[in-house]
Amino acid sequence: MNETTSQSDVIVLGAGMAGASLAAELAEKRTVTLLEIEDQPGRHATGRSAAMFIESYGNETIRALTRTSRSFLAAPPAGFAEVPLLTPRASLVIANTESLQILDRIHAEARYGASLLRLDSATALAMVPILRAEAAAGALLDHRAAISTLPRCCKLTCESLGTAARV
Ligand SMILES: Cc1cc2nc3c(=O)[nH]c(=O)nc-3n(C[C@H](O)[C@H](O)[C@H](O)COP(=O)(O)OP(=O)(O)OC[C@H]3O[C@@H](n4cnc5c(N)ncnc54)[C@H](O)[C@@H]3O)c2cc1C
Repeated sequence: MNETTSQSDVIVLGAGMAGASLAAELAEKRTVTLLEIEDQPGRHATGRSAAMFIESYGNETIRALTRTSRSFLAAPPAGFAEVPLLTPRASLVIANTESLQILDRIHAEARYGASLLRLDSATALAMVPILRAEAAAGALLDHRAAISTLPRCCKLTCESLGTAARV
């Protein structure tokens, strides 16, 4: 342990979106050192994200994390970002016949009303003609989805740490 880490209350390993977020949260009340093994933050999964913000996507834990992030991304603190972090962009998730049950479960669990529409195959195909009918036995159209680039959010979060934490 060197002088930097021994003087910290908390050491966070990994400056991806998860580590950077945790460090920023803890830095409000603690001295935090955020260590990254690569030459820049967000190089791995964070840097590969397709940038979709979809509250109906993933298991309950992921959906809860995404839901909880919306207020920050929609209205970040003054000075955090010069451009909006969320850009509305509807998403269409398709399922083949074998996966329709999963689609219906996601629809039932999401509980955000008319913003998440369960579409039949004909409607999905009319909306996106390039789809193959056998791949789109049903679909979910999510009007609350958005684009949010994770690498940029990660970089901004690391920058926001300033002197409160060492990166
Ligand atoms: C192809 C792809 C597309 C995706 N698309 C989306 C999407 O559209 N929407 C969405 O919400 N999510 C998407 N995801 C998921 C999302 O990108 C990840 O959930 C998220 O980036 C994970 O962040 P993380 O901080 O946990 O991991 P990472 O970003 O991988 O960060 C971990 C960090 O830890 C560092 N590290 C590892 N070991 C050490 C060590 N010993 N010491 C110091 N540092 C260390 C690594 O170098 C890395 O920087 C996608 C993922 C992939 C791969």
